[in-house]
Amino acid sequence: MTDDVIVQVSGLHKAFGRLEVLKGIDLEVQRGQVVCIIGPSGSGKSTLLRCVNLLEEPNDGSVVVNGFQITDPDIDIDRARRGIGMVFQSFNLFSHLSVLDNLTIAQRKVLKRDKAEAERIALENLRKVGLTGKERSLPTQLSGGQQQRVAIARALSMNPDVMLFDEPTSALDPELVGDVLAVMRQLARDGMTMLVVTHEMQFAREVADVVLFMDGGVVVEQGPPSQVIADPQHERTQTFLSRVL
Ligand code: ADP
Ligand code: MG
Repeated sequence: MTDDVIVQVSGLHKAFGRLEVLKGIDLEVQRGQVVCIIGPSGSGKSTLLRCVNLLEEPNDGSVVVNGFQITDPDIDIDRARRGIGMVFQSFNLFSHLSVLDNLTIAQRKVLKRDKAEAERIALENLRKVGLTGKERSLPTQLSGGQQQRVAIARALSMNPDVMLFDEPTSALDPELVGDVLAVMRQLARDGMTMLVVTHEMQFAREVADVVLFMDGGVVVEQGPPSQVIADPQHERTQTFLSRVL
């Protein structure tokens, strides 16, 4: 594994009881790359992402993130997770805390930043996601798209080495999707390493360096979007794309 590989997944297997969900996944994300994972519901996309940040424990195979062999039983899991930002479909903000407090709490507790420093970083990231002036709002006073952008700013405030997104726009009203995708596009342009599960084919086509098509717990096809999305070789990929495009 070279220094430029941030995420390396090899031979990853995951089962829930007798249900085999991941059947040997190999995946590599290089620093600065955007990798999009597409595929039908139930194909194992979320489980794969959750194995990458150790929300799920793999049954077999290895996951290395930023030099941390996260399948090593002796690993300092909190330290390993620190470099991984995660954005979920449901925004998972603390509803009783202001936007600013949502952005500073982990910085202070986990990274031990002082209040002024944490707030400076929070405001800088709020600006990046286009929400300057919303720092005193409660999450419930914001639209879904704004809440998701707060969740992105919160993840960025921890200075992650890689950002994982699990269908970040799937819970949003259609008119709110564009603002979130625009923020993600800008992040990609700024060089952020991103692993994105998405059904937004236009986004994947324009932003991804690599697209993986998953079905039934395996990677059926992977390559640049010009290949996987525009000219898929496998019948399963073709069938899936004909339904979503
Ligand atoms: P996707 O994100 O591609 O829709 P998931 O990774 O969420 O797929 O799920 C893949 C399969 O694993 C589904 O059949 C789902 O029901 C099952 N699954 C996911 N999480 C769990 C769990 N914690 N316990 C049991 N089954 C699960
Ligand atoms: Mg999912």
